Amino acid sequence: MHTGKRNAFFIHTFGCQMNQADSGIISALLQEEGYIQAEHELDAGIVLLNTCAVRENAVDRVEHFLQHLQGRKKREKELIVGVAGCIPQYKREEMFSLYPAIDFLAGPDTYRTIPKLVEQVRRGGKLSSLEFNSEETYEGVEPVRNGVTSAFVPVMRGCNNRCAYCVVPFTRGRERSQPFTSVLREVEKLVSMGYREITLLGQNVNSYCDLEKGCDFSALLDAVSREAPLARIRFTTSHPKDISESLVRTIASRPNICNALHLPVQSGSSKMLGRMNRGHTIDEYMEKIALIRSLLPDVALSTDIIAGFCGEQEEDHQASLDLLDNVRFDSAYMFFYSARPGTLAAETFDDDVPESVKKRRLQEIIDLQNHISAELFQKAIGTAVEVLAESESRRSPEQLMGRTAGNRAVVFDRELYQPGDLLHVMITGATSATLTGRPVP
Ligand code: SF4
Repeated sequence: MHTGKRNAFFIHTFGCQMNQADSGIISALLQEEGYIQAEHELDAGIVLLNTCAVRENAVDRVEHFLQHLQGRKKREKELIVGVAGCIPQYKREEMFSLYPAIDFLAGPDTYRTIPKLVEQVRRGGKLSSLEFNSEETYEGVEPVRNGVTSAFVPVMRGCNNRCAYCVVPFTRGRERSQPFTSVLREVEKLVSMGYREITLLGQNVNSYCDLEKGCDFSALLDAVSREAPLARIRFTTSHPKDISESLVRTIASRPNICNALHLPVQSGSSKMLGRMNRGHTIDEYMEKIALIRSLLPDVALSTDIIAGFCGEQEEDHQASLDLLDNVRFDSAYMFFYSARPGTLAAETFDDDVPESVKKRRLQEIIDLQNHISAELFQKAIGTAVEVLAESESRRSPEQLMGRTAGNRAVVFDRELYQPGDLLHVMITGATSATLTGRPVP
């Protein structure tokens, strides 16, 4: 292998926005040590998979990549393969026997060790670095970002909740927040670089807390929106129990904070929410929705919902459908339950809803939500909406794709516009997932 390729790395990222942001941190740490980011995996002598363990199908996708890398390793003896993020933290050293392609493992709190792991693997052996570090926020690491329009800023990591189905507390550890001043410094830099959209990230973003400054998430959001007055500000993911009136008032009072909230509910049945250990009932969830809508009448709401959790009866499923009907979310991430070993649910409950029933219930949820989204999107036809152009549309270079403040995808005629432009688009068509239109002055 020639030296250029030997020192070039490529990262495949799986899972959520937090993982995308983490890949930027890993890239920065490797580049600081002289490694170079390759454009394509085949040009790299070091291949990293930054993984997600939340859903079974994400784990399956990683397995598929590891098989491909095993094939590459047979031809390229010096190839180094590392697996980072949630899966190694969850499956630990068992990974080495399951997937012989792997040379090293690094957990979400040990990315700083990756350059050293690469060096040590070159000297021989397989290594893992999977300690938890509840202090690690990667303060001071400036992530490598793709694109110049939208930037993710992780402001907190980990989760202190114990939702029964979730692996995150096992893979990401306890909550810890980035210091207030360090977040603001990063935002200031992004503004000077011309970013037009900043998304504050955390597994449980609205439990952000800088004790020294006495600053909660509402105060942080307000400060970020003032630091970047010309950028759109978003945040995710919020826990319903941590939505406060002061947070909603902050969103209402600052014009550049997007009028959109992702508020996972998971089930419309309080009985299921209790089993899921979500920390709120459906009535409490609906009170939060009422509070949000009273202060943000045009808010775009989205959610996550799980079909077929342990013990779910037809009436619980019906309660989820009723909830979708009542709230009328703009969009939803919808899944059927799959048990994750080690979680509270897997240890305590029987996974007793047959797969065929889970799939049927999920399909009913998807059909209803698609119908609601299509109705809401249809209402936008004939109106002009403000859109931040993000990229070329996948279908044609003659069109751009962007998003409204409410996070709706809009595909529109390119004319002379470029990614990063903020413009008004007259909406002329809609599906359940996308609006289409043409720019207007
Ligand atoms: S709030 Fe619940 S679902 Fe979200 S990361 Fe924490 S434990 Fe998982």
